[in-house]
Amino acid sequence: MCIFCKIISGEIPASKVHEDEICIAFKDIHPKAPIHLLIVPKEHIAMISDLQEGKHDHLVGHLVNVANKLAKQEGAEGYRLQFNVGEKGGQEVMHIHMHLMGW
Ligand code: 5GP
Ligand code: ZN
Repeated sequence: MCIFCKIISGEIPASKVHEDEICIAFKDIHPKAPIHLLIVPKEHIAMISDLQEGKHDHLVGHLVNVANKLAKQEGAEGYRLQFNVGEKGGQEVMHIHMHLMGW
């Protein structure tokens, strides 16, 4: 099981800030901004480029909706939403996650 699947199942602890039927969000262990959350679909999909048209059409929209709510909740005045895709794109954990970095 990948590290984010272990966080989703509760096998590894994380500072969780949100959970619903589709995704969870928790604090990045090595924050690169004053607010740094990871928003992670519960389904194990390695990377954004693996998303299937028809099957996953609403997934990213849901992650963005959650990010907007969390940014507000955390008091961010501005923020970045970022997906790293593939090793060359800077992706280290091969389970889709959206970075929310806020200031
Ligand atoms: P990537 O480079 O794959 O886009 O980002 C992976 C992120 O996951 C990194 O910012 C890293 O700090 C974070 N991360 C890696 N392992 C863990 C972990 O076990 N717990 C938490 N909370 N964050 C992690
Ligand atoms: Zn996984």
